[in-house]
Amino acid sequence: MRTLLTITNPATGSVITRLAADGPRDVAGAYARARAAQPQWAARPVGKRLAAIARFRESVLAEAESLAQTLTQEVGKPIRQSRNELRGLVARLDFFLAETARTLRERKVYTNATEHLDERIGFEPLGVVANISAWNYPYFVGINVFVPALAAGNAVLYKPSEFATLTGQHIARLLHGAGVPEDVFVPVIGGGATGAALLRQPIDGVFFTGSHATGAKIAAAAGRRMIKVQLELGGKDPVYVCDDADVAAAAAALADGAFYNTGQSCCSVERIYVHEAIHDRFVEAFVAEVAAFRVGDPQDDATYIGPLARAAQIEVLKRQVADARRKGAKVVAGGAPIRRKGNWFAPTVLTEVDHTMAVMKDESFGPIIGIEAVADDDAAVALMNDSAYGLTAGVYTPDARRAKRILARAEAGSVYWNCCDRVSPRLPWSGVKGSGIGLTLSTLGIETFARTKAWHLRSA
Ligand code: NAD
Repeated sequence: MRTLLTITNPATGSVITRLAADGPRDVAGAYARARAAQPQWAARPVGKRLAAIARFRESVLAEAESLAQTLTQEVGKPIRQSRNELRGLVARLDFFLAETARTLRERKVYTNATEHLDERIGFEPLGVVANISAWNYPYFVGINVFVPALAAGNAVLYKPSEFATLTGQHIARLLHGAGVPEDVFVPVIGGGATGAALLRQPIDGVFFTGSHATGAKIAAAAGRRMIKVQLELGGKDPVYVCDDADVAAAAAALADGAFYNTGQSCCSVERIYVHEAIHDRFVEAFVAEVAAFRVGDPQDDATYIGPLARAAQIEVLKRQVADARRKGAKVVAGGAPIRRKGNWFAPTVLTEVDHTMAVMKDESFGPIIGIEAVADDDAAVALMNDSAYGLTAGVYTPDARRAKRILARAEAGSVYWNCCDRVSPRLPWSGVKGSGIGLTLSTLGIETFARTKAWHLRSA
């Protein structure tokens, strides 16, 4: 008998539906179908594969409102932010539609007429790949992987997070409706056990978005098999506000960067360092921004902070606050769960924090932020880099040279000057240290779904 997956509304705790999870046999069957179907898909001209992606884009747009409602219902994302995620898809899809054919075209890199020699780089699909995904931006992190993977001629076994299963099913339905064969994009439904079963199949690559802890398990399984492995993991993303920064503007931008999606973004601002000369003014402005956030029903248009998607994260946040308090931090906003049905935590701001505290070291992934005063730029850089993670880092200052000096030293895959919590389809998305291996987005994030073949061609 198959185990049941319960889909719960995190805003109310009520059950939305129950679905049968895929067990090991189902997963093996999905793999076999994908393996059989992949060569035919790869044999289609890239333009035909991209035409299916273009039709997918149209159907997502046509259904955007109801897809946003489903996302809000199962993940708790405030409805305006769900709509933003769906709108944001267009730029990414357009990037892949415009760049894939050119990026994967065979490249002549050397010609020598006297030697009658041509050297070329060719790109071939990897084969059957697994896409094990997270719930916090299921459309964004999903399409970063499955769209270029499909466009490059791979078959994809797609495991949405168990917290975004209904969205995952919509994605599969829309792709199939757009002309991607059912055996080429195969949704695999379930939690960690289903993901682990997927990894036991003889797949050609695994593309994972999720936590560092799960990423380590995936890396171990994939490493033994020597298949392509890509991991987009968590972060503890720091921002430094210099003494010459516009305090009000930085406070507004960083409050949004820390609390958007209820703090559940991989690139949420998770630590703020502020030059001591402006620290008190910054904290005052920041707390005023946070106090103005509307917390409430995620279906309500006016809501900015919703519930946490996972109940278990409330304990993590409670522990981080208790640990920080015990070690001398001041709670200047929030600090505790909100008493109502579902998974709620008040937007929380801690000051007088330091790096002995978990809130400055471990990913919080919720509506909570620590603000630490620093004496100068060197101290800020040292603290920003004092992390097991390296996804993004930012600086706020009007001084371009100062910003570049600081960001050049930041150990992070993406760096931001006077902006934060930002992803561009044109730029590679990657992490250093514990934030991951490999990258998505940009033309490099298209190439990553192909294996290269080196052609040495001597005509005589
Ligand atoms: P998670 O690690 O709990 O789950 C991710 C996926 O892995 C889910 O689909 C889950 O079912 C699956 N899984 C769990 N155990 C498994 C196992 N043993 N084998 C195979 N699959 C398994 O992460 P989450 O809660 O879904 O996502 C939140 C995390 O993702 C945060 O740490 C966040 O920072 C990170 N994230 C990173 C990025 C990025 O681009 N770097 C983007 C989004 C989220």
